[in-house]
Amino acid sequence: MSSITNFWRKLKNNGCDITTDLIKVKNIIFTNTLLYISFFSYCIFLTSLILNNLLNIKILLISSLFIIVGFISVYFLLKAKQYLLGKSILLLLLYLSIFFFDFSLGESAGVYLYYFAFFLTTFNIFSWSKERVLLLTFLLIPALLLLSTEIYNLANKKSILHEGYNSLSIYIFNSLMTFLIIAINTLQIIKENLLAQQSLSLSKPSAPSLTDIKQGCIWSIDMNYKLIAFSKLYKEIIKKQYNIDCYEGLDINKVFNHPNYPLEILAVYKKVLQGKTAVSEYFSNNNYFEIEGSPLYSADGTQIAATFYSRLITARKTNEQELQQAKINLETLIDSAGNSTWSLTTDYKIIAANKMYVSDMKRIFDVNIHPGFDLSQLFDKPNFPKDWKGQYDLVFSGQNLFLDHIFAEDFFELNAVPIRNIRNEIIGAVFFSRNISERKFIEQELTKAKTNAEQATVAKAQFLSNMSHELRTPLNGIIGLTNLLLSEQYLPAQTQHLEVLKYSSDHMLTLINDVLDFNKIEAGKVDLEKSAFNLLEVVEKMETFFSWEAAGKGLSFEVNLHNNLHRIIEGDVTRLRQILTNLISNAIKFTEIGSVGFSIEILEQLSEGSCKLRFCVTDTGIGIEEDKLAQIFDSFGQADPSTIRKYGGSGLGLTISKKLIELMGSRLQVKSLINKGSVFWFDLIVNCSLQKQVDVKVKEINQLSNLSGIQILIAEDNPVNMMVVSKMLEKWNVIVTKAKNGKEALDLALNNKYSLILMDLQMPEMDGFTATAEIRAAKLTLPIIALTATTDDTMLKNIKQKGMNGLVQKPFIPEELHKMIADMISAN
Ligand code: ADP
Repeated sequence: MSSITNFWRKLKNNGCDITTDLIKVKNIIFTNTLLYISFFSYCIFLTSLILNNLLNIKILLISSLFIIVGFISVYFLLKAKQYLLGKSILLLLLYLSIFFFDFSLGESAGVYLYYFAFFLTTFNIFSWSKERVLLLTFLLIPALLLLSTEIYNLANKKSILHEGYNSLSIYIFNSLMTFLIIAINTLQIIKENLLAQQSLSLSKPSAPSLTDIKQGCIWSIDMNYKLIAFSKLYKEIIKKQYNIDCYEGLDINKVFNHPNYPLEILAVYKKVLQGKTAVSEYFSNNNYFEIEGSPLYSADGTQIAATFYSRLITARKTNEQELQQAKINLETLIDSAGNSTWSLTTDYKIIAANKMYVSDMKRIFDVNIHPGFDLSQLFDKPNFPKDWKGQYDLVFSGQNLFLDHIFAEDFFELNAVPIRNIRNEIIGAVFFSRNISERKFIEQELTKAKTNAEQATVAKAQFLSNMSHELRTPLNGIIGLTNLLLSEQYLPAQTQHLEVLKYSSDHMLTLINDVLDFNKIEAGKVDLEKSAFNLLEVVEKMETFFSWEAAGKGLSFEVNLHNNLHRIIEGDVTRLRQILTNLISNAIKFTEIGSVGFSIEILEQLSEGSCKLRFCVTDTGIGIEEDKLAQIFDSFGQADPSTIRKYGGSGLGLTISKKLIELMGSRLQVKSLINKGSVFWFDLIVNCSLQKQVDVKVKEINQLSNLSGIQILIAEDNPVNMMVVSKMLEKWNVIVTKAKNGKEALDLALNNKYSLILMDLQMPEMDGFTATAEIRAAKLTLPIIALTATTDDTMLKNIKQKGMNGLVQKPFIPEELHKMIADMISAN
């Protein structure tokens, strides 16, 4: 019975007051019936009066009054929900009116009316209830009264109510009818009572009342799958989805057979009808539902029915699915990240781990990682890294971790952050470990390659430096001797040969210098000087030189300088000269007819001491194809391979010029038209001044000062170089002393008085630097000029620091050497 109670409680929880509803329904039927009976009785009564011509106005009024008062009072009592009292009064009034009928018409009419009312009012439309017992009692008393009256009349052969009308047959008939009705009703009551105990006593009358329930989808079936009760919502749903009308007794199999019927519900039915409670979810009509079923039992414990409750769970389900999807997304993300990822509680229990971590741990430690797995059980394993526990504890103390470590011969990058709860307490940590062995390997290979490349560059630089020294030394001899020979008198044919010799050796020197420069620029070893120089003087010299060269090819060389061009600018004159020389000699080289031009323009006077100058070299030569323009700036790049055959060249000149211009903070630009000519230009921002005199004294080297009688010591190990230098000096009437190495030079310097020493730097036994240091240590102040074939910048920078006064590079230009000697001697 408790399940029935639960059932009703559940119904009530769903917003239905079952008791009130049931009473309401019963009373509506009851009242209607009584009204019908009363009205019917009244009509018969009036008809009888009219027919018998016995219309007694008093009787009519009294009985009508009873009925009217009865109706009114019943109406109000029912309204006030006093159903029992209302019904009782109505019945009482009815009996009273019947007695009046009896009184007026004779007992037979009243008795028939009474039987009729009795039959109707107890007709099988009421359930077994207290009300019904009361009702029957009310009916029974007057019935017994009437019966006893009839019996009395029968015994005394007279009626107590009426005189003169006695009929044995009617009395017997009346009595039998009364007994019959009472018996039928009693049997009916007993039967209903028994039925109520056996089955759902409330199910029958409650079936229609359940249809009023709107919010819950509830229904009950008996053991034969017949619908015995259902809520309104159930009815609506069944109608809407399966187009089946619900009614008490509907075979629920009819609904099952519908193709859209969710199969999950069938399983629930089956389980519940086997006496178990069951819950299941199902999807229907684009919504998720949950069905819950429980068996209903009779008092003797036999299952008599099953009740089901279904509710919409789409919102909950959607939330669950969204959460699940978010979880899957996150897991996929973590799994696909290529990291081993896991999180731990502060007592080393796994919270979550991705696939890679699980498989790594299986492979390395042969353990199955799952949430709750205690990682501390691995701490003692021999292959478990000893420092890991310490790292875990470090993160649990609040630190973020980012470190590389080696494990199982692989490199790993470990990254970890603590996990905090809402109270900001650390409850664990999440770890990301990435195998970086491959990256490490590549890094190592790259480092190796870089070291090798650097070593190769150093070796290359060293090789080139050595080679240049080695090349320059014999070249020094060739150029020096050619110079010497040229200064002597020969036959004109021999002079021409000497000129060719000089040109070739000069060209070779230029090539060597280019290779070395390029090498230096590549190695980033070029430092630009910044000193004031006379720009006009540089231009004048170039004009002299290139006019002669252009004229040799039948070209005109035009120099165009901006009015008021600054005389003095600051910069690296040697490098600027190198760039301009390269551009102008290219222009002459690649032009057969026409002219070559050189111009300097003031683009902008930025301030009083600063201006932007444009240097521009133009020609009317062969030009360069547009798609080759970028290529000509590449190392060893030439616009057309045939140019090398026709014009020669190393393809380094423009590369060096471009790089030098970039070092000066500008850009070498070119425009060219094939067979029309080319323009090369670059802009420089320089410190400038219109000052007339240059700080550096420039003297015309043509007017050589007299060096005759001066004593000069030459320290040089190479006999050819020694011969070239000494012969040149002797030409200037200098008294020369020769030393084959630094040691000899030192001895000579200490024991003799020289005006100047020309000191080679690289010599056997004692090099030039050591010898100079020793000489200076002996407090000798005579000028020492370094004479070297080296181009090593660091070595050259050291010259002044090591106590030398100047430097002349081999192969030397005789006039430059002469000038330097003269300057030093006059300054000393
Ligand atoms: P090189 O002249 O020694 O070959 P450069 O680097 O100076 O090397 O020049 C590279 C190439 O650029 C030349 O070979 C030539 O093809 C092209 N080039 C340079 N200047 C000119 C010019 N004024 N006219 C035509 N072509 C030029």
